[in-house]
Amino acid sequence: MSLRFDEAQLERARRILGAGPICDECLGRPFARVGRGLTNGERGRAIRARLAEAGKPGVCWVCGGLFDEAVAWAERAVREAAGFEFATYLFGVRLSPRLEEMERFFDERFPGDEGESLKHAFNRVVGKAFEARLDRPATVEFNGPDVSFVVDLGANALRMHVASVYVYGRYRKLLRGIPQTRWPCRRCRGRGCASCGFTGKQYPESVEEWIAAPLLEAAGAEEARLHGAGREDIDARMLGDGRPFVLEVLAPRRRALDLAQLREDVNERAAGRVEVSSLSLVDRGAVALLKGLEATKRYRARVEFEAPVDAKRLGEALRALCGEIEQRTPRRVAHRRADRVRRRRLISASGEVKGPRRAVLEFEGEGGLYVKELVSGDGGRTKPSLSGRLGAGAVVTELDVLEVRSDAFPDRADAVDKAEPLP
Ligand SMILES: [Zn+2]
Ligand SMILES: [Zn+2]
Repeated sequence: MSLRFDEAQLERARRILGAGPICDECLGRPFARVGRGLTNGERGRAIRARLAEAGKPGVCWVCGGLFDEAVAWAERAVREAAGFEFATYLFGVRLSPRLEEMERFFDERFPGDEGESLKHAFNRVVGKAFEARLDRPATVEFNGPDVSFVVDLGANALRMHVASVYVYGRYRKLLRGIPQTRWPCRRCRGRGCASCGFTGKQYPESVEEWIAAPLLEAAGAEEARLHGAGREDIDARMLGDGRPFVLEVLAPRRRALDLAQLREDVNERAAGRVEVSSLSLVDRGAVALLKGLEATKRYRARVEFEAPVDAKRLGEALRALCGEIEQRTPRRVAHRRADRVRRRRLISASGEVKGPRRAVLEFEGEGGLYVKELVSGDGGRTKPSLSGRLGAGAVVTELDVLEVRSDAFPDRADAVDKAEPLP
């Protein structure tokens, strides 16, 4: 370690020392860029030695003895974080109004450009003390740490935030009637009532809950949220390679998850209902990526016609249907979606007649295309529609999503599980 002060610096140090009792940290801070490999405390002590002045005795007039409390804050954080697995951390501090005032006053009275702020220095000192008291290694991380703390000096409070773990994957939904995410009971809004059997839920199960349960146990967490790349209707199945999702596990106690095992656990417990594949850990950016993508979808629909339709007429109507479709928000979702007209492209349509009034159709369309309305016309709100092209009423009786496709999905480069034969 080396420390050389010029005359101007020494003069400044002398004036600071003369202003009142000051701790080594606050005496060293204004010279934080002088000398390498030193703590501010060591700088402060070196200055006193160099000037042969101990300074005035008493509590530091700048920080009020804050640095003496650093270890206590660090120990508080260690207790708070006990039981949580983390490899990276970060401290932040909220100064009390009084400390902010003192720092401003100090800067005005002893201006300089080689110092370190009280906040910055205190964060670092607490962080180092924290690290030294952990029973396993952790390093400071400014960008997305596993745990972060805010030392609120005004409120004498320590707040901890544990970063979520994000698991990417694909799900297949093999059974109709299961919503993608947990729906609060409409009657009690989730509080629990007789109509929902005091579960607070509108539906007893959801894709989200089936996937989350084993992950919550493994992570030692209480809450998880499923972010899907779109969602299928409750009464539609999700087949093929499945739909990409990110499961966000909030405040996990354990972050190292055995995803191969978890995949097995989910698929065993939810057998016949929900199936997952392609699980991998991702960062939080994956949620926005999934939400922002308008993936192409492929559907299979069982359709019933009001009047008999033969293969030739059906084929002509389907060919004439491809292209731009104008859809006003369907009546069935109008209560929760804004009423507007959207345009989506129907890329392809094909089908097979299964009886005089029945057919199985396949559609491929841009994300956001409402297929049930594409078939029925929704009372003229969707144009063109299959019903309109045929001049006969048509309604979807069963819908399956066969594919959700985008080259931007995180697993697109990998081989995903092959689609099983459709039942
Ligand atoms: Zn001080
Ligand atoms: Zn209820």
